[in-house]
Amino acid sequence: MKLEATVSRRKRINRIKIIIIVLIIACLILPTIISIVLFIKVNSLQDQIDVLMIEKYGVTYNELRNKNHEEVAHAAVVAEDLSVEQSSDTDELESETSSDKQQISENNSLQTNNENKVTNEISDFTNVLDFKLDKENMKSKKVYLSFDDGPSQYTGDILDILAKYNVKATFFVIGKTDEYSKSMYQRIVNEGHTLGIHSYSHVYQTIYKSLEDFDKDFTKLSDLLYDTTGYLPHIYRFPGGSGNDVSKIKTSKIIEYLNKKNIIYFDWNVVNGDATGNLLTPEELYYNVIKGININNTSIVLMHDTDTKENTVKSLEPILKTLTEFQTEILPLDKDVTPIQQVTAE
Ligand SMILES: [Zn+2]
Repeated sequence: MKLEATVSRRKRINRIKIIIIVLIIACLILPTIISIVLFIKVNSLQDQIDVLMIEKYGVTYNELRNKNHEEVAHAAVVAEDLSVEQSSDTDELESETSSDKQQISENNSLQTNNENKVTNEISDFTNVLDFKLDKENMKSKKVYLSFDDGPSQYTGDILDILAKYNVKATFFVIGKTDEYSKSMYQRIVNEGHTLGIHSYSHVYQTIYKSLEDFDKDFTKLSDLLYDTTGYLPHIYRFPGGSGNDVSKIKTSKIIEYLNKKNIIYFDWNVVNGDATGNLLTPEELYYNVIKGININNTSIVLMHDTDTKENTVKSLEPILKTLTEFQTEILPLDKDVTPIQQVTAE
């Protein structure tokens, strides 16, 4: 009897052991299978995204993301700065009702069907505005258009459009040594625009590591621009703005450095929004610029000149068309212009 009981107890223990082992194996195998299934799903979704991206933008998502990487980081800083600097402006922007936005996107879908090339006929975007422009008011304003991060494949187009409207702008450029880019530096100078320093590498981690690194980067670009064009730039724009919080150097140290070199730095008070992660349509970029100009007496408009900013180019001519129609004064930045600065030396 006692032996029988022992045997059946052993059997029961063995059964429990087997159940436990099976459970453990199941616990190991199941997540593995789920992982594999998810992996395959994600890959197929990625492929679908790429197909859609290539259809719409001509590049895969990863290519676009790599290109945008720096700009997105830039945009985050920009957005942050703006929320501090321009609380009144942002309030106004935020007070757009959702129906306004809906209306814009409806207009956009109508407009984007045209798929017009960059320099084709001028589109009139005034129908996306949900406010009225006053002629006298617009006439009294000063506008400084600025393009950061060029030269790019679109610099030539931008210069052509500016020339067509006989408008001078400002280019805060980065360092590039290929022949095309050098010819763009030269065109900017020759055609009467202001060539400003942005940064040679535009890599925050390097330029803002120490004042020594900052000086190295600054001088490298300054030298390149002087050697290429014979013109020594005297205005500067901080990558990320002077109010950026990525710099390891105290901003006052950099300002001191710039002062010693007689360099004036300019931030901005209007953004077209082309540095945000999501791609805005030409109509949305237009809307942001005109709205910003409408609420400021003097506007320094931040836009970007990079290979991914085709929509910025597409928005430029409608912007210039509206501003010329309303006789708004458009000028290049210069060291005599009262700067807009997020952070000042004092
Ligand atoms: Zn930049």
